[in-house]
Amino acid sequence: MVQSFAPNMAPSEAQMRLAIGQILSMSFAYNAPVIVLDFDPGTLENEKITGRFKDLTRSRVFSFEINRKSVVYKPFTPRIDSRGVDLKNWEDFSAGYSYRIDAGGAKREKAQCVKPTSYNCGSICINIKKSCRANAQDDFSQERLFKLNELRAKYLRRSTKPGILPEEEKEFLKKADELKKITEPLLIKEWEEVQRKREEYEVKKSEKQKQVMLEEQERLKKANEVDEKFRTISEQLRIKADQIRAKWEKERKEKEAKDAELDILLEQRKGRRDALMIEAQGKRAQLLKLQEDLNNSPPVPRFLPKKVIAQFLTNENIEYYTGAKTNERIKAILQEARKLIYVDNPTKINTNNTVLDKKRKKEYQDGIEELSRMIEIPGLTSTLSIREIKQGQRSCCWQTGTIDMGTTEKATLIHEAGHWIEDRSPLIHKEVLNFYNRRTAGEEIVKLKDVHPLNYEDYEVTKVDKWIHPYIGKVYGSNMYNTEVLSMGLELMHRNPIYLAKNDPEMFDFIYSVVRQGN
Ligand SMILES: [Zn+2]
Repeated sequence: MVQSFAPNMAPSEAQMRLAIGQILSMSFAYNAPVIVLDFDPGTLENEKITGRFKDLTRSRVFSFEINRKSVVYKPFTPRIDSRGVDLKNWEDFSAGYSYRIDAGGAKREKAQCVKPTSYNCGSICINIKKSCRANAQDDFSQERLFKLNELRAKYLRRSTKPGILPEEEKEFLKKADELKKITEPLLIKEWEEVQRKREEYEVKKSEKQKQVMLEEQERLKKANEVDEKFRTISEQLRIKADQIRAKWEKERKEKEAKDAELDILLEQRKGRRDALMIEAQGKRAQLLKLQEDLNNSPPVPRFLPKKVIAQFLTNENIEYYTGAKTNERIKAILQEARKLIYVDNPTKINTNNTVLDKKRKKEYQDGIEELSRMIEIPGLTSTLSIREIKQGQRSCCWQTGTIDMGTTEKATLIHEAGHWIEDRSPLIHKEVLNFYNRRTAGEEIVKLKDVHPLNYEDYEVTKVDKWIHPYIGKVYGSNMYNTEVLSMGLELMHRNPIYLAKNDPEMFDFIYSVVRQGN
């Protein structure tokens, strides 16, 4: 059975709700199906219906007011401020205001209100605190409002109650509580979840900060350790460097002091040296006289072809230089020449001659005696060791005081022993060095093999000067700890003093003088 609506009959509360809901659902108003939760029909004088409705499909609750011409509604907000709920927590709630689909008929989509604090009112978004006012502008809507007002009047007349009774008030509050249940549990739950997540996040954040801090502390600690280590090592190196520098400085000072001493000694020897130079000059004259006596051979060329220089240091070539006719004659002349450069008081040289072959041992000994006759060096008391190496190998002298002989030739023995002498006497070395430096001042250093055909090593260098053999200028290190001047000088003095006197008188005089260290 269908119950029809009788216009003169007073409507029931349910019928009132239905009628109000129909108005609210109309397109000019909320434009979506709603349920009226409660309402207040107002008074006969005050033509206003107020109450609350709920969106049928969403848990959105609005308060409303319907008067003769319009519908006003706004989101209903239960009291929640005591919980301190932030508006943002209403996001989901308010999101519901921003979009809705009309119930049947023409679908009208309203613009989305992005802000969580706004909702849709017709074609615009408004703040959820503000009311949306919808005026009934078309006849149909206006008529429906008019009819609702009539119904309201009938409803009021039916009721004998002037206002809301305490029971109704109670009922109303109960309904309001139910409404809260619709909205709040969700919010509280969400809020608690947010709080929980925030706490979780805070814990994680502080843990992370703690870890970062610990890592930073660890890093700093390590950096400090490295720094400390670096400082320690640097300090140790600095101390070591200082020690080395101090040692060098000490050695340098010692050397300077020794040099100064030597300079004094050389200065003291000046008079004697000058006298010896004059004496040497006289010897040269005598030597040249010997050669003149020999024959009237053509003069010896001052500079010889390289090939000839290479063979110069052999006795046989004396013929070339002197133009002598026979070797016997030459031998006799050389004997005489050598006697001219013998010293008055020969210096005996102590030897440790370990050569096993008796004949050769004697030959070495003879060479030493020949050298002995050429030098007068007081204090030359150490022992010269003579060792044999494979014959034909290059002879040499060791700083330990040993000479290795690869030949029994006297001239070579005298040469190597010359190194031994220079090694043993700092004063002679200094005098030799002064002479060498004076002679080679401004000279360039060149490779020996570039200026001489003999097979010299790549590292052997020299200063050519006007030496009669480029080997005399050989360079030993930056400080010339050694020279070939004395050795080559003594060797030449032995081989052919005439040749040296004639071709390098300066060197002759120097060698003559430097091996005479006695008074
Ligand atoms: Zn040498």
